[in-house]
Amino acid sequence: MRPIRHITLIVVLLLVLSFERPAVAQAPGVIDFHVDLTDAPSRIFHARLSVPVQAGPLILLYPKWLPGEHGPTGPIADLVGIKLSAGDQPVPWDRDSGEMFAFHLNIPVGATQLDIELDYLPPSGSGQFTAGAATSDRLAVMSWNTLLLYPAGRQANELMFRPSLTLPSGWGFGTALVEQGREGSKIRFETVSLLELVDSPVTVGAHHRVIDLTGDAEVRHQLHLIADSDEALGMKPETEQALQRLIAEGIALFGSYHYRKYDFLLTLSDHVASFGLEHHESSDNRLPERTLLDDTRLNLRAGLLPHEFVHSWNAKYRRPEGLARDDFQQPFETDLLWVYEGLTSYLGEVLTSRSGLWTPDYARESLALIAAELSNRPGRTWRPLADTTRAAQILYGSSRAGSSWRRGVDFYDEGVLIWLEVDTLIRRLSDGRRSLDDFCSAFFGGESGLPEVDPFSYAELVAALGEIAAYDWAEFFDTRIYSIQAEAPLDGITNSGWRLVYTEEPNLVQQGEREVYKRFDLTFSLGFSLSTEDGRVRDVIPGSPAAAGGLAPASILVAVNDRRWTPEILRQALAVARDDDEPIRLLVENSEFFSEVLIDYHDGERYPHLERNDAEPDLLSEILAPRLR
Ligand SMILES: [Zn+2]
Repeated sequence: MRPIRHITLIVVLLLVLSFERPAVAQAPGVIDFHVDLTDAPSRIFHARLSVPVQAGPLILLYPKWLPGEHGPTGPIADLVGIKLSAGDQPVPWDRDSGEMFAFHLNIPVGATQLDIELDYLPPSGSGQFTAGAATSDRLAVMSWNTLLLYPAGRQANELMFRPSLTLPSGWGFGTALVEQGREGSKIRFETVSLLELVDSPVTVGAHHRVIDLTGDAEVRHQLHLIADSDEALGMKPETEQALQRLIAEGIALFGSYHYRKYDFLLTLSDHVASFGLEHHESSDNRLPERTLLDDTRLNLRAGLLPHEFVHSWNAKYRRPEGLARDDFQQPFETDLLWVYEGLTSYLGEVLTSRSGLWTPDYARESLALIAAELSNRPGRTWRPLADTTRAAQILYGSSRAGSSWRRGVDFYDEGVLIWLEVDTLIRRLSDGRRSLDDFCSAFFGGESGLPEVDPFSYAELVAALGEIAAYDWAEFFDTRIYSIQAEAPLDGITNSGWRLVYTEEPNLVQQGEREVYKRFDLTFSLGFSLSTEDGRVRDVIPGSPAAAGGLAPASILVAVNDRRWTPEILRQALAVARDDDEPIRLLVENSEFFSEVLIDYHDGERYPHLERNDAEPDLLSEILAPRLR
């Protein structure tokens, strides 16, 4: 990886660590780092580090701002059991009073090595990204950043680590790190920089399987499955073929790649936080245990691997300059997440279709749902999309209740609509000779080779789009990203030959969510969604019939028209109300108090779909079709 912006690093480190900086007491040399996961089933990870040092004051840092997590999410509260020693002497430490992620100590005269022992307590419940649940009885996901302290004063690409790992007996593992040897259950990996180490998580588990996806690619691509059961590893041959096509289509889209090999780590467990995190040469994908076993579950999450794969180009290689950092302590500036995440969301959906993981029909249903959700988002009337990117670090963990008025990290889904519009505009402006694919290979492609970071600015992005198709792109983004837009940007759908409509037919994605996630979504009719498990209202759309009746988010639906509620009873009430003037009566429990909510609504069930608009050529089908045969 190539070093970036040393001067900024020093200035900001001085600002961020607002204590007096001591002389650097770290000697050059490789840090030995051993992680012991034998107690992972008991939710405790152990680590030992041996750091070459010189006598004098030293600051140890815990990684705080993690690439891809877009916030100060290092799980410092779960870092425990810290014991420092030099030779036989304990070395006392003192946490900084202003920066919780920094520890002060003094290396005694004569000492050349600091030994660090510490534990990490992977949480079982809530938590985002690497701070989320990472273990079950049968598996664990280990992000090195959760278990290490590193000396301040040098860049993360200069600090070298020699990592090793001990696994529970019989467990397998997956990682982008290169194995160097084994002694019993201890695995040694090649020496890497701190940047590469944090970029290379490890998945381990009792049930594991490696699937080669290389196909015709020049370098190796593997899928490492770790699951809570052998059954869950049973990926269908057609899914395997689609994942091979994903790799071929991804490389065809960008025209090159920036890894020595690529490892998809896929953890299948109901006890691990469900998310994906991008890395240069791998991705940490975590999904429910039975995802690969039935089509409904797979369809709902099929976009995850394509999304994380796209990030190897758009995020890791080309990165907005505010997100490219030399260490883990300097805050990110997240303004360009509408490119980093928004464009990746669009390309992720495109590649999910081109690879055959989705049918074109399912891809359109997904797009229709995104368009409908963003069209029923009153938060658009006060908050421009740009504010959701700048505030990303406070929005990731925000409550579902109130989300339509708050807006959450909308730059993912709204990015799909905006970049579809860019794609259709390029196709129109060039009379079909060019497309967003050309922009992707020009801007994100580059020479194939080692992982490196090539930061970009907003001005460079706008200029590069202008090279593909002459247009006032700055004005385009000013309107859609940086201004308040009460209406969702649906012109990409219209340009691509389709239109958003609502019918009584269930949307395929919503139908899957009802089945698998126990969500009943009446957002586009009554104006709320709820959990079918406990009747809890997930959110109510301000201005909707439900809001007018006084329904509160997080209240619990008990009965509909005097009868205990079920999804069928509620659907029946919607059908009855369509043919008469009586309101739908809900009995609702709100913080121990019961009340009746009257909803004056008579239009029946409404679910979003795309309908062909024959006035325009069908660009959407062209976009979603495979490039390769
Ligand atoms: Zn992403």
